[in-house]
Amino acid sequence: MTAAPRTFRIAAIPADGVGKEVVAAGRAVLDALAEDSGGAFAFRWEEFPWGCAYYERTGRMMDEDGLERLKDFDAVYFGAVGWPTVPDHISLWGLRLKICQSFDQWANVRPVHFLPGVQSPLRKADDTELDWVVVRENSEGEYAGLGGRNLSGRGQGGEVAVQSALFTEVGCERIMRFAFDLARTRAHKKVSSVTKSNAQQYGMVLWDDVFKRVALDYADVETESVLVDAMSAKFVLRPEDLSVVVASNLNADILSDLGSALAGSLGLAASANLNPERRFPSMFEPVHGSAPDIAGQGLANPIGAVGSAALMLEHFGLPDQAARLNKAIEATTAAGILTRDVGGTATTEDVTKALIDALDT
Ligand code: ATP
Ligand code: MG
Repeated sequence: MTAAPRTFRIAAIPADGVGKEVVAAGRAVLDALAEDSGGAFAFRWEEFPWGCAYYERTGRMMDEDGLERLKDFDAVYFGAVGWPTVPDHISLWGLRLKICQSFDQWANVRPVHFLPGVQSPLRKADDTELDWVVVRENSEGEYAGLGGRNLSGRGQGGEVAVQSALFTEVGCERIMRFAFDLARTRAHKKVSSVTKSNAQQYGMVLWDDVFKRVALDYADVETESVLVDAMSAKFVLRPEDLSVVVASNLNADILSDLGSALAGSLGLAASANLNPERRFPSMFEPVHGSAPDIAGQGLANPIGAVGSAALMLEHFGLPDQAARLNKAIEATTAAGILTRDVGGTATTEDVTKALIDALDT
């Protein structure tokens, strides 16, 4: 008797620009994987047409009952949001951040993965296997939305704006435990905590205090605390020292873009926005934006989106399938089938086809 197939329900939200192209690529690769599984698992997709074009038609980035419609899916597979005709704060808060916050996706995982056949601006990338993960606190910190404009009211002329950051003990502790637990699954058991606590004396000092306390529960994991400016240098000069890097919302956002640029292109970088308690769906998306400069031309690199699909498979409890997808990515780049951002001439479709072919190898 064969076991009943496990069917995973996935909400696809391609949204804007190259998001549409890379989500289509990711879906094609995942469907090929499922077809190949001999019925062991299947994906049932529903696609939602939300994004900036939708906003221009309806005045809304997503339907009013959108969250309600998403909440029973096993995962959200997201493209990219944003378009020059819609202000960023409307598009971002109206869709992507709305989903992140409403579904309490407080952990954002962004692997920095160096691929064979892809030129890195780092000289030492050629002879060193580089592989680390940025864990980003995704629910508070500098993106808590606290503050306001025109707060002076004292008539001395010139507007005053305040932008505050929120750090809670609970928020710090849960992201650090997440980082330590992740470090334990890796060959190099180390967590690097990043702050700017020499210049920001409240929230980031709380972060440091919580890090020291949580570290006591993980005596088997090596730790370090590094200031964000020094960590930026370390990404470039000593990346082989890194395994798990945990940082606040803003710092991790910047560091993970640096990491993906070092790995060769923003188009390669994958990410997962996780609700670790699994009360709500988690969301998987490439790190890059909608890339209006290349959208609709078949130039988008689909590897960031496909790598995000691999993170989704891990979340579904299919680590072997995730590994298969990552192997297909490595085989494709090693064979020199590369889009323009990583120095090749292949189209999105060429790379997608190569990835599907490589699943068999
Ligand atoms: P966001 O504000 O949403 O993060 P952004 O303004 O930072 O977006 P992106 O849209 O990510 O920028 O684009 C930054 C650069 O990276 C652009 O030159 C774009 O063409 C390139 N880029 C982004 N994604 C890809 C991709 N998948 N393939 C190739 N190039 C990409
Ligand atoms: Mg960006």
